[in-house]
Amino acid sequence: MATISENIQQLHGRIQRACLQASRPVHSVTLLVVTKTFGADDVRQAFDAGERRFGENYVQEGVDKMAALADLRDRTEWHLIGPLQSNKTRVVAERFDWVHTVDRLKIAQRLSDQRPPHLPPLQVCLQVNISGEATKSGLAPAEVADVARAVAALPGLRLRGLMAIPEPAATLDGQRVPHRALATLLAALNRDGLALDTLSMGMSADMDAAILEGATLVRVGSAIFGARPRPVT
Ligand SMILES: *Cc1c(COP(=O)(O)O)cnc(C)c1O
Repeated sequence: MATISENIQQLHGRIQRACLQASRPVHSVTLLVVTKTFGADDVRQAFDAGERRFGENYVQEGVDKMAALADLRDRTEWHLIGPLQSNKTRVVAERFDWVHTVDRLKIAQRLSDQRPPHLPPLQVCLQVNISGEATKSGLAPAEVADVARAVAALPGLRLRGLMAIPEPAATLDGQRVPHRALATLLAALNRDGLALDTLSMGMSADMDAAILEGATLVRVGSAIFGARPRPVT
């Protein structure tokens, strides 16, 4: 079985090839290593392989891993990529560097109010339900502009861009459609005067399509660590 370090090396090759195909500089795409369900030892191996950005779905699991890796905290960035309930905003505001899943103004206001003043603003993305799935969280595309303007004005936050988890599609062309829609939405916000630089889209299965459509941050777990030990909803 390939090691974590070998998988990471392979993944950077895949990112490079997708960037080449998209005529984009390879440094325009950042890898977020998704560590949910994997242990602190696995995260440390990814760190030793050169990775510095880690994504967690569950607040408590993320906080526990940060504690187990406290010696690396100054050199690592932790991103919350799972749903965030209002009763968990304080610990997130205090511990995380990024939140990708802001989908309500009320959550953003709490995060801003609760961000400790000695820390830099919390970096946030708005999650968009880009495929319009009834069961998925995220803002409807038509709601994004108003929420983005309000979130951009909050002092404890820095709005960086948009995030989506599109409905799975079997073909590359099919995968490109929702990613293109998210990129179009971001471009419209920037035309309206915001200065957003982040398109958080693309996972192990659809990363190449996401990069072709302008992803700046891809969130990858299983292509690095293998299948997850327990199912995640
Ligand atoms: C689990 C997860 C990922 C990573 O998915 P893989 O298929 O393991 O690469 C990316 N983004 C979110 C929001 C996730 O929950």
